[in-house]
Amino acid sequence: MSFAELGLMPELLTALDAVGYTNPTPIQREAIPIVLSGRDLLAAAQTGTGKTAGFTLPLLQRLATLPVLHPAPKHRIRALVLTPTRELASQVEESVKQYGQKLKLSSMVIFGGVNINPQRDRLQRKLDILVATPGRLLDHVGQGNVDLGGVEILVLDEADRMLDMGFIRDIKRVLALLPKQRQNLLFSATFAPEIKTFAQNLLDNPAKVEVAPQTTTAERVEQRIYPVDRDAKKALLQQLIVDGDWKQVLVFTRTKHGANRLAEQLDKDGIPAMAIHGNKSQSAREKALSAFKAGKLRVLVATDIAARGIDIDALPHVVNYELPNVPEDYVHRIGRTGRAGAGGEAVSLVCVDEHKLLADIERTIRQKLERVIVPGFEPDPNAKPEPLRKPQAARQPRRDFPQRSAQGHAAQAPRSAGPQRDGQPRSSGGVAAGNRPQIEGGRDRGNGSRPAGSGQRRRPSGNV
Ligand code: AMP
Repeated sequence: MSFAELGLMPELLTALDAVGYTNPTPIQREAIPIVLSGRDLLAAAQTGTGKTAGFTLPLLQRLATLPVLHPAPKHRIRALVLTPTRELASQVEESVKQYGQKLKLSSMVIFGGVNINPQRDRLQRKLDILVATPGRLLDHVGQGNVDLGGVEILVLDEADRMLDMGFIRDIKRVLALLPKQRQNLLFSATFAPEIKTFAQNLLDNPAKVEVAPQTTTAERVEQRIYPVDRDAKKALLQQLIVDGDWKQVLVFTRTKHGANRLAEQLDKDGIPAMAIHGNKSQSAREKALSAFKAGKLRVLVATDIAARGIDIDALPHVVNYELPNVPEDYVHRIGRTGRAGAGGEAVSLVCVDEHKLLADIERTIRQKLERVIVPGFEPDPNAKPEPLRKPQAARQPRRDFPQRSAQGHAAQAPRSAGPQRDGQPRSSGGVAAGNRPQIEGGRDRGNGSRPAGSGQRRRPSGNV
């Protein structure tokens, strides 16, 4: 099926030609006709599936072809896209510009950590599509810079990440400012229970589209299990990195302590490595990330929560040094590789203690993963499983969320008081907005108070 057959207008087809897409991806095939029809949509699709074009193309077409739904004397924005991170916001807005190059629709991106004034100035002029991270959007709302009363289409992109990062209160505040009559599109990597609950409250009789993780990743991401003894994992990892000549690898551990120890050991053995997790200072995290992105650091060791806040595209190698407690995190982890059509490899070092976690993962992704025994690392067939070290750093399973969100405001209290980040209460010391490069400012709003109109809000530490 071609893009034309999906009902896209000539201006969009020309733009798609220019960017070189010939065929729609599965999520695009399913989502585009639904969005064009005006229906609400709940879509499970990871980054890398082409989801951005899946909502951007029909959104552009609706705005270009339909009369303004909520006319106002002054220019008001007609479509709002919320994303968890500034990088994703930028990417989405780039897509809007790219696909909408032949249309007379205007767009802008706003996120925290940069000077607010140029954004405020741009908001004074005509604007059709606003892509924003929630905290900075609310800053502008507080300053009276933006009127959300004309929004016809709302998109929540990577909604699961937004919930995970504590944006729920911000999103609810934004929702309260939107007109009732509008189209809602919710994209999430998985249909985890907390997303379903959230979607139930937000969406009106939505169409559901699910691009199963295993088919979206299997095409580009090679997944493999290396059965290995507990104590041989580090040596196996080193061998994989060195023999495979891996230049850039993201390694996941279950605990902060484990991340530190592994990074130190690798580094000592001559493989440049650093750890990022919730106990690291903002500057240490930034340093590790930029070194990794610049290719100066071969290995970045991360915990799940720490990795969620960062956008690193197109990683060739992801290693699960330890399997995650929650199967959905496996999906998130391997989603870090094989992006943008690039190939990727996601391998898991699995010892006898983790067999149950592995079974849970395989059930979730409905896929049996290939086992490869590396000569010299054959696991002891008589090894007895030990209970997984009670990670002082274990995160709350994401399944806990529905109860919290279902209970409304009061239920947010634990988060506001300092949510568990890798099991540690998050410190709430202020950090200047400009010091938080990867994660948009103001995830959790502390006690939720905000000096009206000042745009100055208490900032959390940004520790992830
Ligand atoms: P996304 O999942 O939206 O982050 O997109 C992942 C990557 O796929 C991006 O680099 C897009 O430019 C690319 N892409 C999206 N749709 C298509 C398509 N139909 N054909 C080829 N590449 C695409």
